[in-house]
Amino acid sequence: MYQASDTRYTEMRYNRCGRSGLQLPAISLGLWQNFGGVDLFENSRAMVLRAFDLGISHMDLANNYGPPAGSAEETFGQIMAKDLKPWRDELIISTKAGYYMWPGPYGEWGSRKYLVSSLDQSLKRMGLQYVDIFYHHRPDPNTPLEETMGALDYIVRSGRALYVGISNYRHEDTQKAAAILKKLGTPCVIHQPRYNMMDRWIENGLTKVLEEEGIGSIVFSPLEQGLLTDRYLAGVPADSRVGMSRQFKPGITEEKIEKVRQLNEIARTRGQTMAQLALAWVLRLPQVTSALIGSSKVKQVEDAVATLKHLEFSSEELTKIEAILAS
Ligand code: NDP
Repeated sequence: MYQASDTRYTEMRYNRCGRSGLQLPAISLGLWQNFGGVDLFENSRAMVLRAFDLGISHMDLANNYGPPAGSAEETFGQIMAKDLKPWRDELIISTKAGYYMWPGPYGEWGSRKYLVSSLDQSLKRMGLQYVDIFYHHRPDPNTPLEETMGALDYIVRSGRALYVGISNYRHEDTQKAAAILKKLGTPCVIHQPRYNMMDRWIENGLTKVLEEEGIGSIVFSPLEQGLLTDRYLAGVPADSRVGMSRQFKPGITEEKIEKVRQLNEIARTRGQTMAQLALAWVLRLPQVTSALIGSSKVKQVEDAVATLKHLEFSSEELTKIEAILAS
């Protein structure tokens, strides 16, 4: 029987999410890949439990994670029922709706019908009464933002979620969404954008809006799906995302790998792994509340948490990193 570690709060750092009361671990675990019905349940379970034991109190899901879609929530539901049930109040569990989930006009995008139905399905799959954070997963150009944000407000008022957020919204739409939610009395607490050394779009407007609005952020694919690690430095391992030809995998070119080689040298001088350098780098921004990692092995979760031993950068290191990224 699983017993949570007594030392689970000793290593982790918790950051306040924007100007809300919610604190999130600096490293969170995402269940997008390697937690589906096609994956080995015992490995998925071991990663979630090790994460919790290391202070990763936040697990991120979405309706469509798997494959097949929905199965990551089922896997997580089994882990909750088997192991984590006694610790429900120590966990922040999120899910999302926005991408294709079922056929017909109510199975994707941003209507009130889709969001509420989808969350009810997610709660059933996970065996939960409520989620801690519910996100609209991607903007919908054809549904009035008032309707989508109204659905998020309703979801909180009906007790299905404690907090709401948005994902993949550009800065102009983030501003509009935040204003509507504020008027409704349900704040937009968190944004989930993609951000890493090779994809820096949030620096061009979004971080400013987050700061002004007091919204926190949890950045996904901080390791560029494994590219910003030592995984591909000596070829393509058979058990990697690229090696297994997963549907979603990092785009690998010799040019990118060469940059990672140079970045890895900086990591070495800091006494860090490449993954730790990439995670510390996204966490350097005050607007980034948490780095949302994926994982295929328990040791990757452990490696990520050990990043917290060395988060600070000298201005010389930052300049060197900028030069490599710009080269
Ligand atoms: P990462 O960029 O962290 O990539 C994870 C992959 O990197 C792992 O599967 C593993 O690859 C490799 N890896 C991780 N840690 C290490 C390490 N220490 N050393 C070497 N390799 C390592 O994140 P993801 O792209 O997986 O995304 C993370 C989460 O973000 C998702 O689970 C999901 O919750 C969220 N997300 C949200 C999206 C949205 O639209 N809101 C979209 C995409 C993700 P390998 O499997 O090859 O071993």
